[in-house]
Amino acid sequence: MAFRVGEAFLDRSPALRPLTPLRTGDTLALLETTVNRRDWLNLGAAALAAECAGARAQAAAAPQGRDPSPAEDAGIPLEQYAPKSMLHAPATQVPRARFPVIDFHTHITSGSASGKIQFHMKPAECLSVMDRKNIRTMVDLTGSYGEGLRDAIGGLSAGHPGRFVVFTEPAWARASDADYPQWQAAQIAAAHQAGARGLKVLKTLGLFLREKGSNRLVRIDDPRFDPMWEAAGAAEMPVAIHTSDPEAFFLPIDRFNERWEELHAHPDWSFHGRDFPSNRELQEARRAVMRRHPRTQFVCLHVADAEDLPYVSECMDSHPNMHVDIAARIGELGRQPRMARRFFDRYQDRIVFGTDASASLNTPQQTFGDALYEIYYRFLETEDEYFDYAPAAVPPQGRWRIYGVGLPEPVLRKIYWENAARLLALPA
Ligand SMILES: [Zn+2]
Repeated sequence: MAFRVGEAFLDRSPALRPLTPLRTGDTLALLETTVNRRDWLNLGAAALAAECAGARAQAAAAPQGRDPSPAEDAGIPLEQYAPKSMLHAPATQVPRARFPVIDFHTHITSGSASGKIQFHMKPAECLSVMDRKNIRTMVDLTGSYGEGLRDAIGGLSAGHPGRFVVFTEPAWARASDADYPQWQAAQIAAAHQAGARGLKVLKTLGLFLREKGSNRLVRIDDPRFDPMWEAAGAAEMPVAIHTSDPEAFFLPIDRFNERWEELHAHPDWSFHGRDFPSNRELQEARRAVMRRHPRTQFVCLHVADAEDLPYVSECMDSHPNMHVDIAARIGELGRQPRMARRFFDRYQDRIVFGTDASASLNTPQQTFGDALYEIYYRFLETEDEYFDYAPAAVPPQGRWRIYGVGLPEPVLRKIYWENAARLLALPA
């Protein structure tokens, strides 16, 4: 299938890989295997797509008189591109953290809408990795509520004191009920009695939770949650709150999107269009909550807004009750190592270690195991350069590599243990 190249096509067709660079007026065939539905939609050329469907990978754009060598000249799909770094840069192995660690952000269990709990990892399996990696305590954030919470506590913190900590979660399914505000506050107090040490709020709030009836998204700073935030503060339970997502998830999935591959692998992670608020609106709503509840300690997960450390710094400066974890964001921190290093220095008393570790194999930057922790330790403890932020053949969050920040020992101690221990009232 051949067609003539126009300006608009050249501008919008990154996924079509002809054998040589295109100019307007060229005639070419399509490498159909590299084109998917979304690209066609982005091209805005549905008619062309229909016409070209079924086109096979063929070279038609090769200039006359030149025989392109497949090895040297043929375009390759992005997903096959696996360049090996030629840098002779030192690679430090860090099999154990230099100091004992609290992993403040893990998902050993998850709850269903009814509150029932499911274990995704066995405590004994966790403990063997923990002992090898010098992790003293794992915080299971998604501990659900009610009966599910009691099961999570029974299987984790009750059976292995000091090694596991369990957080509770709000019962979102009840959020539109008239008595919800007081009921939820009472649930937090009951969860604390049952052994929960903190409250986890998923990005559900702000991006998924909708009002029964009107179907409008419920705002993060909706006053119905005020009693819940206060109850957490009164029980000295830190609130681990995930708000928004990487900024690229709010942009069109086009050739300018730096997380194009990740969004193609997980198209449901996109919050572009529809009625979603912007990243900044979500961040500011969380800020309003922190401002209204100064006695409640908030740990803004994933460095709050890891791509925008100047903004996060401004928030940290205006809200002394704000903390952050670094979970699943060393890919962001490690590609801006100088600004990240200044951030670690300035907020060394309010940053906690976390990984977002889970049993899932779909997100290698979070898959629980030795390899994951070794990368985090290398990032924090060494000044190694240009290494992978995830144990994966292709960097899963974007095709870049990271640089270690080489934190000094006093700062490392705070981030690995002291700051989280203070929040969780564990021994110093
Ligand atoms: Zn998480």
